[in-house]
Amino acid sequence: MILKFKPLLKTLVWGTENWVLSGVKGNETLVSEGPLAGKTLNEVYGGEFPLLIKFIDAKRDLSIQVHPDDALAAERHGCKGKTEMWYIIGASEGAHLISGFKKEITPEDYVRLLEEDGIVDVLADHKVAPGDVFHLPAGRIHAICGGCYLAEIQQTSDITYRIYDYNRPGLDGKPRKLHTEEAKSAIDYKVYPSYRTEYSPALNSGVELVRDPHFITSLYELDSPVQVKMEDKGRFLAVICVEGFGYVDSQAISAGEAVLVLDQTAPISLKPSSKSSCKPSCSSESSSKPSCASKPSCCSNSPSASVKFLTTYL
Ligand SMILES: [Zn+2]
Repeated sequence: MILKFKPLLKTLVWGTENWVLSGVKGNETLVSEGPLAGKTLNEVYGGEFPLLIKFIDAKRDLSIQVHPDDALAAERHGCKGKTEMWYIIGASEGAHLISGFKKEITPEDYVRLLEEDGIVDVLADHKVAPGDVFHLPAGRIHAICGGCYLAEIQQTSDITYRIYDYNRPGLDGKPRKLHTEEAKSAIDYKVYPSYRTEYSPALNSGVELVRDPHFITSLYELDSPVQVKMEDKGRFLAVICVEGFGYVDSQAISAGEAVLVLDQTAPISLKPSSKSSCKPSCSSESSSKPSCASKPSCCSNSPSASVKFLTTYL
């Protein structure tokens, strides 16, 4: 079966998050239509759904943070850790984000650099453009910065250790709590040669982006329909539309939405639609930053309908 859920829109100090598939307790998405309407994601899945899928529209920089891995999160919080990935949909001019270290430091250096307000100087900063992919295993220090509009796929967990918040106030006017000590032993201090996920885009076939113990994600850029086998996918396949408008079998889906294919063994078809639909804007009403560099395909008078889906399963 193919299920659509009512998204949860959250306004935060730095922008908005739209949770399109969530089994996080207290924040579960509900089936929006059909005979199962009103049921939670966890009810239809029959247990805690392992992935949390969001669209993040950052007007300002998010705090620099890290998430524990499964072992540490189980020990400290009795829950899962958090590995995540980002697919950049829109980026304003100069948009960037932080993933990993550019200089190797020790846990002691980390504490000292926070005290000296110098942690940002040792972090790897990346300019971003639509289509960029970052895989963030638990333990990798990271931050999404203002001007990024992206899809995020992550483990179902809300354990975040906030490391640095640019000394700014939260929504209540007070500085948000930092988790310096908890983060110290959760961080992976190693410097890696690259933090970006390289891939070769291909039209009308699935391109695998990330294969991880927590999720396997592919990109489908389509101007004609493709069939996706389901029997090797486990119990579910989440289909996330990041650009354009199309169909998952007969279920319509537009940019900024996701559907869940659950307990299905027959192949599904992913199809572009000629009906145009603008992707949700990453331009901002309130910020002074320029609007998204990449215009939705429907706004560029392109004659060929195309759609971009991410698929993810476990
Ligand atoms: Zn994070």
